[in-house]
Amino acid sequence: MSDKQPKRVFFRTVSVVLCSALLLASCQQHNNTQTFHRQFLSLGTLVNIEIAGADPQTAQAASTAVQKLLEDFTNQWRPDGEGELARINAALAAGESITLDADAQVLLTQATALSVKSGGLFNPAIYRLVRLWGFDVEDRADTPPPAAAAIAALVAQAPAMTDLQLEHGVLRSNNPAVQLDFGAYAKGVAVDRAIALLRSHGIRNAIVNAGGDLRAIGEYIGADGARAWRIGIRHPRAAGFLAAVQISGDECVFTSGDYERFFIYEGVRYHHILDPRSGYPATDFASVTVLHTDGATADAAATALLVAGEDQWRAVARALGLTKIMLVTRDGRILCTPAMCARTEFLTDVQPQQVPL
Ligand code: ADP
Ligand code: MG
Repeated sequence: MSDKQPKRVFFRTVSVVLCSALLLASCQQHNNTQTFHRQFLSLGTLVNIEIAGADPQTAQAASTAVQKLLEDFTNQWRPDGEGELARINAALAAGESITLDADAQVLLTQATALSVKSGGLFNPAIYRLVRLWGFDVEDRADTPPPAAAAIAALVAQAPAMTDLQLEHGVLRSNNPAVQLDFGAYAKGVAVDRAIALLRSHGIRNAIVNAGGDLRAIGEYIGADGARAWRIGIRHPRAAGFLAAVQISGDECVFTSGDYERFFIYEGVRYHHILDPRSGYPATDFASVTVLHTDGATADAAATALLVAGEDQWRAVARALGLTKIMLVTRDGRILCTPAMCARTEFLTDVQPQQVPL
């Protein structure tokens, strides 16, 4: 093994994350009321946990448990390495059937359902295409994109979640091209599980933020009382925030963007969210943000909508049961659904366009 091997990435690179954290206002300590804060690397990104209104020992124990949960989750569900998903991929590559444990069955079934609802635009079966492009490594060099013929050959094999059969816990594939990559939705699942774990420790007010994708419950509690959490949504083309939303209760904010991982070759930007129909990076949107009740759906949906583009995002949104969506086109227009516009404070000069669903 050479030291020079590119570092594999899982979900998202760390470098982009620092500026998509919460707006500072919600992170400060107040006189009598402390917000507990823990930050660590997991899920291939920087994870921030904030807990308000809990005693420090409880917050400490709960966040330690979450860190462990996310570390285990990362090991199990990265597509390469030694975990469960790598084991599944090895079996599928060898044309063998494989027995799945209960958790793997849950994840696979949910991923399949989301993929079908998205019309296959969220397609976790395209790991071979992701690898062909080199987006499985963090520091992909600005070398040429893959040959058109190689892309076309993979697209022609049309790997899809519906090629998989799961019966009595045994998984097999009808299509040898299927290799799984949960990178577009695993962060959502993980954030959902992290919040459930915090709740089981008695935590009522918290945010679990994985690189800007997050779930928030309860409220922020400061010296002057409780108020909604205020969440910043990163600008896809400038430093800082494009918008902010307030959350009190329980809600997720997930963004997919063409700025997360990309390379530039001969002046063209090639990013990591691929249109399974063409085999090339999706073309229309620079970023898509979804507010939704569960993280798994929000994560998969943000990816699917980014792929769907201007003509098809509404149909995909309806199929996935979404109402709160903000889309930034690559030519700089900001579109938002009525329910999203109503929730969003825009922090730029560009006037958002309200668009019906
Ligand atoms: P991020 O992880 O940067 O927030 P996404 O949630 O959109 O962004 O996930 C993008 C990752 O998902 C890619 O790096 C790749 O591994 C995988 N992927 C790319 N295109 C698709 C797609 N159409 N459907 C499912 N997974 C995809
Ligand atoms: Mg996603």
